[in-house]
Parts: sequence; C-alpha cells; structure tokens
Amino acid sequence: MDTSFFAAWIEEIATAVRDQKDHLTQLDAAIGDADHGANLDRGFAAVREALAASPPETPGALFVLVGSTLIRKVGGASGPLYGTVFRQLGKTLGAETADVALGDFAAALDAALSAVQKLGAAVEGDKTLVDALAPAVRALTEGMQEGPEEAFAAAARAAEEGAQATVPLQARKGRASYLGPRSVGHEDPGAASTALMFAALQAAGGR
Ligand SMILES: [Mg+2]
Repeated sequence: MDTSFFAAWIEEIATAVRDQKDHLTQLDAAIGDADHGANLDRGFAAVREALAASPPETPGALFVLVGSTLIRKVGGASGPLYGTVFRQLGKTLGAETADVALGDFAAALDAALSAVQKLGAAVEGDKTLVDALAPAVRALTEGMQEGPEEAFAAAARAAEEGAQATVPLQARKGRASYLGPRSVGHEDPGAASTALMFAALQAAGGR
C-alpha cells in the first residue's frame, strides 16, 4: 500500500467526518460538551489543506503530518488522542518506506493503539475510542491472511461492534466519566468516530 492509497484513506475519513459531523456532535452532546463533530471536521479540513500544500512522499511522512495537524487544530481531548494515533502510525512505519505491507500496517496500528492507551491511560471497557480501536486492530491482524479487503472489512465490522458495545457502559475516562451512571445508554463519540475511520479504510481498500 503506497502513499496515494493512504492519502485516499485520509480523504475518505475527511468526507465521512464532514457527512457525520452533526451525528458525532449529537453523541457528544449526550455525554460530553457537544463539540466532537465540529472539532474533528475542523481538524480534517486542516489535514486536507496540509496534504495539498506539501504532499508527503511516503506513508510514514503522511501519517506524521496528519497527526501533527490534528494535534494543532483539534480542540479538547480528541486532538491529542487522534494526533497520537496517526503520529505513532507514521513513526512506526518510518519515513523511508514507500510501500507498506499489510502486516507492517497492522503492527503500526498496534503501536498506535498502545501509544493512545498510554496517553489516555485507558483500557477496553472504559467507554473511549479504545473500545473501537482495540478490536479493529485485532480483527485486522487476524484477517491478514485473507488479504487486505477481507482484513479491512473485518476491522470495520469489529470497530462498529466495539462502538455499539460502548452504549451500556459507564464511562471511566474522559469528560463523560464526570456523569457517572448517567453516561450509560449512550454511544461513546470517540468510539463512533474511530468506527467511521475504519469504515473509511474499508471504502478506500475496496476501490
Ligand atoms: Mg467534546
């Protein structure tokens, strides 16, 4: 998978975030501060501009630019968290590799998962984006033998199931945790946006 493949993935994410902006904000309104959709949309609009202004030559460089831009442009907790995911993806892939094997991508996603878990001190079940990201990384890794399309589809499915599974949970991390038991009954906005990113990966992989 080359730089243009991953650029297409990021473009799919930016389009999906734009389309789902109000939905993500509604989820955040229920258990947060109602800015997740607007924040992510602003971030990915800036990412689009940054990639157009200086197109990266390798997937690693692309992801580092995406992550740095998100950290700079997205407010709240989600900027640093998503920024860390993409920056760690890029750092693990390295700036030199032009073509990324599926196994190396899965390993880099696993490193990104570890980095964001360390930053947020979050484990699965805390009702955060980790609840979508962790099962997606596992499904992608397990589905690798069957090829990228199968692996991406499995990851998208696992991320969506993981996001839905946050509904009955009580939040233990982030702003939603201040609500205590009142956080139960709502999908976590970060898990929802993570699921959107893996759906975008499946869409990019199926073209
Ligand atoms: Mg928020």
